[in-house]
Amino acid sequence: MARTTRLAPSPTGALHLGNARTFLINWALARRNGWRIVLRVEDLDGPRIKPEAVDGIMETLRWLGLDWDAGPPIHSRDLAPSLDAMESLAGAGKAFPCALTRGQIASAASAPQDGAHELRYPATLRPPDWEERFHDIESNWRLIVPDLPIRFEDSFAGPQSINPAEVIGDFIVWTKRGAPAYQLAVVVDDHRQGVTDVVRGADLLDSAARQLLVYRALGLKGEPSYWHVPLVVGPDGKRLAKRHGDSRIDEYRRLGVAPSAVIGLLAGWSGLERRPMSAHEFAEAFEPSALPRTPVVFSPGDDAWLNSR
Ligand code: GLU
Repeated sequence: MARTTRLAPSPTGALHLGNARTFLINWALARRNGWRIVLRVEDLDGPRIKPEAVDGIMETLRWLGLDWDAGPPIHSRDLAPSLDAMESLAGAGKAFPCALTRGQIASAASAPQDGAHELRYPATLRPPDWEERFHDIESNWRLIVPDLPIRFEDSFAGPQSINPAEVIGDFIVWTKRGAPAYQLAVVVDDHRQGVTDVVRGADLLDSAARQLLVYRALGLKGEPSYWHVPLVVGPDGKRLAKRHGDSRIDEYRRLGVAPSAVIGLLAGWSGLERRPMSAHEFAEAFEPSALPRTPVVFSPGDDAWLNSR
């Protein structure tokens, strides 16, 4: 079967230069190698989701010259496969319902949580027993996370060894909103869509280890290959955000910047010469081995270069 990748935007806002670069690299790898591309809208991220952003994101991707072979399926419209997966996890005793609040977890956890941006749920907080059946879809459910390193080879980031028990502990796979958490939804969708290659931002490298645990807990075959693209950051080294200036693609478009200029800047950030080009030219020239392995800095000079096109 053909290799398959996916473009999986979350409709939490407009595309900026950082996400656009990741999507462009994802698309270029696929088109060079003859992989199938599925567009998938990941709209399960609770309150941050703006359903009206979906059309805008698709329109921006098309304006840049990207296309796809199937989609978009929208996560929230078909929960049945995630419900089946949860029934299987709960029935096998691999996930448990959890009513603790973040505050309770933070105060009960003995290890200091300073500086951690994610709350770790230690094994000591697991309930002594629970009903091994997915009986309450309006509760949070957590996966039982074994204390062992998950090893995998990332095609951009290199060999990885990540122990989710140390990073996050028993993480949430189902939320009390009555919907799967990101970590479960991604695995269920990647598996049923036959995704063989996951290309996305390096902020999700830790998540790859969690997702591999979910594949294994569900007994699913066909774990994907991962390609985590180093992030675009601001001059302060932090991931691209509003305070670094308006880097939304739509804003450049509104100012009259051509798509070839945007692709040209992204090319300069991806190991190619910075010059205006189409997405197809980018795909032909792109060499995965030349992609910078460290974060790329979006500088005021980059913004000026775009605005002068
Ligand atoms: N929806 C995520 C994002 O927009 C990507 C998740 C994934 O690729 O697994 O960053």
